[in-house]
Amino acid sequence: MSASPIRTVVILGGGTAGWITAALLSRAFGPNLAIRLVESDAIGTVGVGEATIPQIQHINRFLGLDEREVLKASQGTYKLGIQFNDWGRVGDSYLHAFGDIGLPLGLIPFQHYWLRDRQRDGAPDLWAYSINAHACQAGRMAQMERVGDSPLTGLRHAYHLDAGLYARYLRKQCDPAVVQRVEGKVVDVSLRDTDGFIESVRLENGDVIEGDLFVDCSGFRGLLIEQTLHAGYDDWNHWLPCNRATAVASSRMAPLRPYTQANARAAGWQWRIPLQHRNGNGHVYASDFISDDEAAATLLANLEGKALTEPRLLRFNTGCRRRFWHRNCIAIGLSAGFMEPLESTGIHLIQSAVSRLLSMFPDRSFDPALIDEYNRQTRFEYERIRDFLILHYRATERRDTPFWRHCSHIEIPDSLQRKLDVFRASGQIYRDGEELFTDVGWLQVLIGQHIEPQRYHALADAVSPQQLDEFLAHIRTLLNRATDQMPTHEAFIERHCKAPPPP
Ligand code: FAD
Repeated sequence: MSASPIRTVVILGGGTAGWITAALLSRAFGPNLAIRLVESDAIGTVGVGEATIPQIQHINRFLGLDEREVLKASQGTYKLGIQFNDWGRVGDSYLHAFGDIGLPLGLIPFQHYWLRDRQRDGAPDLWAYSINAHACQAGRMAQMERVGDSPLTGLRHAYHLDAGLYARYLRKQCDPAVVQRVEGKVVDVSLRDTDGFIESVRLENGDVIEGDLFVDCSGFRGLLIEQTLHAGYDDWNHWLPCNRATAVASSRMAPLRPYTQANARAAGWQWRIPLQHRNGNGHVYASDFISDDEAAATLLANLEGKALTEPRLLRFNTGCRRRFWHRNCIAIGLSAGFMEPLESTGIHLIQSAVSRLLSMFPDRSFDPALIDEYNRQTRFEYERIRDFLILHYRATERRDTPFWRHCSHIEIPDSLQRKLDVFRASGQIYRDGEELFTDVGWLQVLIGQHIEPQRYHALADAVSPQQLDEFLAHIRTLLNRATDQMPTHEAFIERHCKAPPPP
């Protein structure tokens, strides 16, 4: 037991980051921690952030939530992967499907057998061996641990959620005796003379809120971490050139796709996110290559349904804080950094930050060793996601617009170059420690964007052509059979998680 435990936490901000933090901390500590969450309706939230990755299920498990109830409450749908259109070449389409691909045979990963088979005319593509890809292509959804009674793993899913409804739902999960919500605008921050730690924040109405630990969830402005503590920011715009987005809701599409779409455009890309009551759409673009008006026009010209709102412009600076945790302040959410939503990592970065904070929870001495370790791990996580995003741009063969010509020349970080070199030389993907994206995730983007390995592993030749043929055909048969038995995504939602009509 610490001699100086933290008793009060102030969370500044009530967007997705603020409410995820409040819900997870209050569930972990119960009445041992008093949490005050300050948010300002006048300022509002960023209001986007609707596609997730499978790790979001950890939040449900930790909070004891039934995912079907979460989907009902947030007009949500299931997400089995992301479809990338026109990225490698105009006319291309490939998936980053969640979950595994194929089965390892012997000592080496599946991709080597597939690479060997691919040399023959008419060989099926990589996605013929992914249950998630099968379900995406057929518009199906089911909950299954395994494919039949085979060793193939079943569908792995995430969600599409209405961000505003999701934050409201999380708010309801917080015990009001533990989490006190304070409506008001913070106008001043007091620092302790002795060490510059945050002592309190002052609201417009004069109220002063003190705390031991401050979590900055104030969004892009980083009111505590940057405007007050000047933690510094590493700008990654030279690696990831998009710096704006324009977002609009449109009438829902039918049938509901169980995947997000990321469609490349002349100076960026456009997302389509299917929700039960509407679609989320946004055009992420580089302002050096297209004007805001042109970007909005491109978005509106490429909607599937009718626009329900006016396009909303969002400016961002890709990169991250030099220090995510500084003194007694931790930045979580957009205040910690931002990478475009190409692989839907925003909400994940929030939950992994809270989970890291929980595992390293300090006392009031705020030991610098803990702070350094937290910052090291967080930076590692950001940098590896950054590398994965850069790959999508740098691996393009498009030269049809100035933007794509620019992308094809981007100088890449050494960490990414190493991965590419090893893959080209051997067909092998090596990940460093705890990086977020799996080797199967990397493989799909590498193959989807025409990065060709020069060879496959020698052990893949240890099976006879007939054995290989039978092994691959057996997997395809199992996956086809399992997919045929799944209900459509639409029917699955209707049956298990139909949301009430919006007010
Ligand atoms: P915000 O939503 O901006 O909330 C900030 C909070 O701070 C608000 O409550 C505000 O009232 C409060 N506040 C600020 N200043 C004050 C003050 N002075 N006093 C009192 N309160 C204050 N993530 C995904 O996982 N998937 C996606 O598909 C995805 N798409 C995105 C698309 C775009 C274009 C952008 C920009 C982001 C996207 N994200 C996505 C990221 C995701 O939106 C954010 O990670 C998430 O919404 C968290 O935002 P936040 O809570 O940090 O900030």
